[in-house]
Amino acid sequence: MTADSRPLDNLLGAIRACRLCEAHLPLGPRPVLRASPTARLLIVGQAPGTRVHASGVPWDDASGRRLREWLQVDAPTFYDESRVAIVPMGFCYPGRAGGGDAPPRPECRATWHGTLLPMLPAVGLTLLIGQYAQAYFLGSHRGATLTDTVRAWREYAPDVVPLPHPSPRNVAWFKANPWFDDEVLPALRASVARVLGPT
Ligand code: SF4
Repeated sequence: MTADSRPLDNLLGAIRACRLCEAHLPLGPRPVLRASPTARLLIVGQAPGTRVHASGVPWDDASGRRLREWLQVDAPTFYDESRVAIVPMGFCYPGRAGGGDAPPRPECRATWHGTLLPMLPAVGLTLLIGQYAQAYFLGSHRGATLTDTVRAWREYAPDVVPLPHPSPRNVAWFKANPWFDDEVLPALRASVARVLGPT
């Protein structure tokens, strides 16, 4: 597939130079995202943590290892931006709040996502990881809780899969919801294989 990457490259350059909410970012701006016009899989998460802020590599942590296990995708494929776009709801580390990471900064989605997402025309599967991605993409179609939304995954198939965050902090949720391993992950892996082909 050929695609003119220049408009997207220009936009990514503008995003990487963004300092819009600098005053609210304890470690300063460092947008972490990947995208190309040929990407078939779109992963929408929350926002970088401190480790990803330091490395500049998305999902470069225990959550990323679990996510790749869920997808049955190896690291070279996961980080092949010609195949996989990684676009969190907030591009910079937002700091801490209430014992965890703060919510993604709202300036990001208000400024960038509406322009960026239509520039990914090859996407055939979108993974919505966590409540912020689900709220933005699903709006009133999401469930009352994240668990309700993920449990209703068939309603969004085949192009969208809502997921919990794969953080080690959510181990209790994984144990309390065995249907996720039994039902959602096999369907998720089949959908990923459909859009990425052999990995
Ligand atoms: S979080 Fe988003 S809006 Fe804020 S500085 Fe980073 S890229 Fe810009």
